[in-house]
Amino acid sequence: MIIKPRIKSRLLVILEILNSRMELAEEEKQYYLSQEKGHHGEQLNDLWVKKLEEELFVLHNLLFEMKNSQFQIDTLIIAQDRIYLLDVKYHKGDYIYKNDGFYTLSDNETKNHLHQLRRCETLLRQLLQTLGFNIPIESTLIFNNPEFYLYNVPPELPIIFPTQLKRFYNNLNKRPSKLSEKHKLLAKKLLDEDKGESSYSKIPIYKYHQIKKGFSCGTCFSLLTTVEKRKVVCTSCGHIEHLESALLRNVKEYMLLFPERKVTTLAIYEWCGGVGSQRSFRRILFNHFTPIGHGRFTHFIE
Ligand SMILES: [Zn+2]
Repeated sequence: MIIKPRIKSRLLVILEILNSRMELAEEEKQYYLSQEKGHHGEQLNDLWVKKLEEELFVLHNLLFEMKNSQFQIDTLIIAQDRIYLLDVKYHKGDYIYKNDGFYTLSDNETKNHLHQLRRCETLLRQLLQTLGFNIPIESTLIFNNPEFYLYNVPPELPIIFPTQLKRFYNNLNKRPSKLSEKHKLLAKKLLDEDKGESSYSKIPIYKYHQIKKGFSCGTCFSLLTTVEKRKVVCTSCGHIEHLESALLRNVKEYMLLFPERKVTTLAIYEWCGGVGSQRSFRRILFNHFTPIGHGRFTHFIE
């Protein structure tokens, strides 16, 4: 049972919008792509988690704080006699494991994901103790990109490779699990402790005038779209969206990027590139938001 579903982080949503509406610096672009890749890897892993049939509580994307240290958990599964802590990496390429670290083939040391996992487990154990729970934690580092390989891994390390995923989840599923009120309380307490999104997330700096205006496509984020009567047609991918849903999505983008700016018919008309009819925009805004003020000074809030 999924107690906390995975949603795309606010950071990733903003990066997606910025990537389609402005020229990101190379470093920002790389950061965006790594976030996107990470999210994709997590979603792939979620497909396995969804298939588990025993009684389990699943919580995705948690951020906790313990003794002034923040730690993030991709997936936490509460089972009858233990907690599974899953850290998912969607890296690709060849690496070597040596001296308790991860190295590239050209011998550069890279981020040590096992250290990260152990740190996370230690902090989670402390958190569980403060919450009054003493339940074993089983941590696993999952590499689920089929184009990943790590040489020289001792088999006792808690690492799962793409070819082992099926067996890993089969074994997890074979272990009987029945949950009680105690587990429910634990899930509730963990949700209460969840801090939401990290405040350290790196959002590039942007200004209204730098941002390209236009209707973004709901599938490929391209601004190469045309408005034909009640439809928005993407000339990049061919996706056709109803004007109403496309407009609402673009209004959401505007509100997310510029929470301090007012949502008026004219502002949204400008935001969408000055195409379509202001009258139909106004009608859609009236139908979905609360109008404040009168006439052309009307602005809308959620
Ligand atoms: Zn498109």
